[in-house]
Amino acid sequence: LKPLLQLEGIKKYYPIKKGVFSRTVGHIKAVDGIDLNVYPGETVGLVGESGCGKSTLGRSIMKLEELTEGSVMFQGRDLAQLPPSQMRSMRSELQMIFQDPYSSLNPRKRIVELLTEPLKVLSGMDDAEAVKHASELMHIVGLSPQSLGKYPHEFSGGQRQRIGIARAVGLRPRLIVCDEPVSALDVSIQAQILNLLKELQRSFRLTYLFIGHGLGSVKYMSDRIAVMYLGKIVELAPTKRLFAMPQHPYTKALLEAYPVPNPRLRITERTVLAGDVPSPASPPSGCRFHTRCPLAQPVCREREPVLSGGEHLVACHFPLAGDTPQPMGGIACG
Ligand code: SF4
Ligand code: MG
Repeated sequence: LKPLLQLEGIKKYYPIKKGVFSRTVGHIKAVDGIDLNVYPGETVGLVGESGCGKSTLGRSIMKLEELTEGSVMFQGRDLAQLPPSQMRSMRSELQMIFQDPYSSLNPRKRIVELLTEPLKVLSGMDDAEAVKHASELMHIVGLSPQSLGKYPHEFSGGQRQRIGIARAVGLRPRLIVCDEPVSALDVSIQAQILNLLKELQRSFRLTYLFIGHGLGSVKYMSDRIAVMYLGKIVELAPTKRLFAMPQHPYTKALLEAYPVPNPRLRITERTVLAGDVPSPASPPSGCRFHTRCPLAQPVCREREPVLSGGEHLVACHFPLAGDTPQPMGGIACG
């Protein structure tokens, strides 16, 4: 099976400017070398604390941010090398759902315009076709086609997110980057939206890159989960495996902070996340997590661990053993 999306060496740095001449004095390394494959039909979750670079990564894939380095390959083709004409058709195959559905919908436009415009521009439909299609889309996302004449402010937050979803799936994309699609919504609405996304995935054979702040929604949605810390992926594993036997101390700490108790993670060995996340302008040497890691050894300050493994990848010199025999002679902890 070939990956639908291949991220290779993705870096996104923002210059830090100072003084009257706006001299560049450093860089915020928001995303600092990400490799990731996403296969057709799967959902890959991205988790990590705020500022770990997960949204920036999502936006870079969508070309909403210019890459500092690396390449985004979609269906085997490098997006940066595509001529503008082909970029347009690629635009419809690659869509994004945003965290705040309100800010992503133009408040001065009626829903009918918001839904039909991309259909006309990107799919070449005429007015009548586009309106018919828009009515179907409303139905598909659980809204009444009669509301097409309304403005975004006339809808609730959950309904607005349904409109955002209708807009994204209307173009029959293959991949949708979902950037915290439920974190701005009431808890009572969150499950409905997640279930809608799952239904649509089945009926339209969608592939998702699902960015989440809370582990709950990411666990519910994802087949595999990538854990990010300071611009890098520190662990990547199938969802069940990650929850049952996290190998990276950071992942373990994140899971322990997660409200649903996991009997396999012993409370007595809690690795509470101490200290603040270091600045992405000057990430710690060696392993970036060493300033907060309860298992850090001198080597961790010097040598950067490489993300490695089979279907369970981890970037740590002393990965946790979990229930499996320890491959690297590290410290047993789980
Ligand atoms: Fe902790 Fe060292 Fe592993 Fe980094 S490499 S997570 S500091 S044990
Ligand atoms: Mg974000």
